[in-house]
Amino acid sequence: MNIALIAHDKKKDDMINFSIAYSHILNSHQLFATGTTGKLISKATGLNIHKFQSGPLGGDQQIGAMIANNKMDMVIFFRDPLTAQPHEPDVSALMRLCDVYQIPLATNIAASEIFLHGLERGDLEWREILKERQQKEGNN
Ligand code: PGA
Repeated sequence: MNIALIAHDKKKDDMINFSIAYSHILNSHQLFATGTTGKLISKATGLNIHKFQSGPLGGDQQIGAMIANNKMDMVIFFRDPLTAQPHEPDVSALMRLCDVYQIPLATNIAASEIFLHGLERGDLEWREILKERQQKEGNN
């Protein structure tokens, strides 16, 4: 599965701890992140992560583009609900696209843990089936 990891500045420590705790699950998936979040996670865990631009410089939009192209299967986004973000429109756009395309989106640790346990159990395999079917239809 393709998984996006994003954390606002005050949530970055939480994201580091989360990615360390779940690296045994994350390491069997393709990981993508906004710039700073990705750098911190790969430094802390050694996980291989594709890093986009930093969030305020367009990273959230790049992840949004992957969603719109049916290339993202899950988004884990530790938002800071108590601090105004300069790129709030990008954040809203990303979350909106998750809803448009039915992409599982977790915005806090509690939900993210449930997502990763589900991922480990194979709860998201319908995404692969859907993508294979869409590819076949596209090829016909
Ligand atoms: P960052 O971006 O990982 O580059 O800090 C996250 C964000 O604020 O959207």
